[in-house]
Amino acid sequence: MVPALSRAPDFLASLASSFLDHAAFVLVYLDGDHRVLHADDRIAAVLKGGRDGLLGRRLADTDHPIAQAVTRAAEQAARTGTAAPLDCEGERPGVGRTLLSGFVLPHRGESGAVQGFLGVFQDVTDPERIADFVMRRDPFVATLLDAAVDGVVVSDRGGIIRKINRACCTLFGYAEEELVGRNVSVLMPSPFSRDHDKYIHSYLDTGRAKIIGIGRDSLGKRKDGTVFPIHISVGQARMGGDVTFVGIIRDISERLAAEQRASYLARHDPLTGVLTRTAFLEECEAVLVNHDPADPGAGLYALYALDVDQFSDINEAFGFHVGDAALKAMVSRVSEVLPPQTYVCRIAADEFAALSRVEGAEHAQTLADLLHDRLTASIYADRHWVRLRLSIGAAVQDAEVRTLEELNAKAKLALQAAQHDGGNKVCLYTHEMAAAATRRMFLTMHLTHAIERNELHMVYQPIVDARSGRVVSAEALLRWTHHTLGPVSPGEFIPVAEESGLIVPITDWVLSTVVRQMADWFEAGVLPDRVFINISGQQFLRGNLTGRLEELLNQYPALHKRLGLEITEQAAVRDLKAAVRTLTELEAIDVQVAIDDFGSGYSSLSYVQQLPVAKLKIDRAFIIDVPENTRNNALVRAAVGMAHGLGLVTVAEGVETEEQRDFLVSIGCDLLQGYLFGRPIPPDALADMVRKQMETV
Ligand code: C2E
Ligand code: CA
Ligand code: CA
Repeated sequence: MVPALSRAPDFLASLASSFLDHAAFVLVYLDGDHRVLHADDRIAAVLKGGRDGLLGRRLADTDHPIAQAVTRAAEQAARTGTAAPLDCEGERPGVGRTLLSGFVLPHRGESGAVQGFLGVFQDVTDPERIADFVMRRDPFVATLLDAAVDGVVVSDRGGIIRKINRACCTLFGYAEEELVGRNVSVLMPSPFSRDHDKYIHSYLDTGRAKIIGIGRDSLGKRKDGTVFPIHISVGQARMGGDVTFVGIIRDISERLAAEQRASYLARHDPLTGVLTRTAFLEECEAVLVNHDPADPGAGLYALYALDVDQFSDINEAFGFHVGDAALKAMVSRVSEVLPPQTYVCRIAADEFAALSRVEGAEHAQTLADLLHDRLTASIYADRHWVRLRLSIGAAVQDAEVRTLEELNAKAKLALQAAQHDGGNKVCLYTHEMAAAATRRMFLTMHLTHAIERNELHMVYQPIVDARSGRVVSAEALLRWTHHTLGPVSPGEFIPVAEESGLIVPITDWVLSTVVRQMADWFEAGVLPDRVFINISGQQFLRGNLTGRLEELLNQYPALHKRLGLEITEQAAVRDLKAAVRTLTELEAIDVQVAIDDFGSGYSSLSYVQQLPVAKLKIDRAFIIDVPENTRNNALVRAAVGMAHGLGLVTVAEGVETEEQRDFLVSIGCDLLQGYLFGRPIPPDALADMVRKQMETV
């Protein structure tokens, strides 16, 4: 009867020691930590410890050469997973100096892990007996071998199977009797079977081994002819002049399948199934190496870099399920639009890249536009309709740009240009983009030190009552005078500040500077009704704006009801829920909010209607050509009418001419701002303006 595998060591320990001690060979059994679980009296005698002194101890702790040799062999067996040869000298009481030879066999548990070692050896003076042991149907060896999970085959120098264990029979679908006495090559498919004899002979002649002591992956052949992957390791026991081979065979079908799965996972993004970055780079590089852009028939490759603008807003507003579903939908649309032989990869959470063959730059632009149209169309994701804003940068091979690295760098620059230009658009790489990117990098670096170098200051532009022309409020506008570049326009550096995150400390500086200025004006009795500060979208939705303003208002209680903020309509509608929350908080502390640049985005009054705001600032672009442009006249008139319907005060920006003013007054616009009434000016100049106005009352 075969003992349960997991109890094999117990079983060994419980075997009558008399049986083991009288076996024709010396036996020792070590557990996984090389602790002695069984040792027969003879080995105990050799090691001079006595059996009781040996049991439970680690062999390595016994500094006897044989103990050391067994430990080394066990280590080798653990490493190679196969029988490790053992040859060492020892002193045997009553016999004298003796040469021991044999091997240490790894013993595996069900999990496949090596859980112990069986050392089997004998005086070399008696080689016949050990050879006899290996091949004999010894009940102990048979039990151990049959308990092993791996297949074990013992064959002689001619490759004839002398012993085979149960696992091996099961593995190959044979009965034991069918195999013992046959050549091991019966277990191998060709060409392995054909080469096997040759291999053994060459090994016996030259001693050069391809497999012995190393182990390798190979193929096995079952009785029914089916072939399957195996790992085979072969140990040899040289006894006297003869050799016995012990093969340990493991079915590795599952391991290979797992490896294939792992390699698929390593090369593909688990969410969307597209290539990972590394896999993408490898595949694209291989494609480009074999492609000659000079060959007119070969076409050119275009690289598209895609980035969803503010993707985190979607996750925050709808949850990750919706975000994930939107990304999946996005990827499937990419494959709909781009040609079939396109490589797509996911670079980061919401960043993708695609490499496609195109006819030329124009074709690449058409595809990129199409891609943008498709990807920004509404997506139904997890019971929500979402619309992504997406920036695409594209670069096409030409005489200068050939390698993937170059293409990638250019596509990224084009993507940055698209993002810098407000995002949600397509940009094809041009040379100017490289220069612009360098300039942005330069500005970012220098903007970092702008506050500490005292390079920032505020100017104020008056906002007047349309009918009376009196200054009622002012807009605070930031200025940066770089020590070498001179003045840098906020139109240029504010986007840089937003992209780099520098907008956070800068806004903080603006808030405290303006509030301090207002307190001074208040003291001097020249503070306009309200002063408006521009807040970028990022700050509005994320920063703890209300908290900071509350702090400042506590510090300057006189400024209560005198502070206003301007936020762009795009920032406000990007995340309507968050916007409403912040706006409600601001309303509670009497900070008035105006919607800036109204009409410049693609939102509508129906959105604005949902926001608790007080003012609507109509974008300069609409004012610029009134009253000549009748279309804009109608638009401005409608905006003013509807805003009034919603109870909002209207402000027209960029008023430069009397005609513009007269038109705006005639349609009932409440407040006006523009060069006609005053440019953005230093605080003292604004104070003078207010003071003069008070004198004329
Ligand atoms: P904005 O908020 O729309 O500011 C109005 C811009 O129009 C200002 O440009 C102003 O000088 C200009 N402007 C006013 N009246 C006229 C006019 O009659 N004709 C013309 N042609 N232009 C006029 P500025 O100061 O260069 O600011 C540009 C943008 O930079 C601002 O646009 C705003 O978006 C941003 N910005 C300025 N200061 C700040 C700030 O402190 N924080 C933030 N986040 N953004 C700021
Ligand atoms: Ca503004
Ligand atoms: Ca504006």
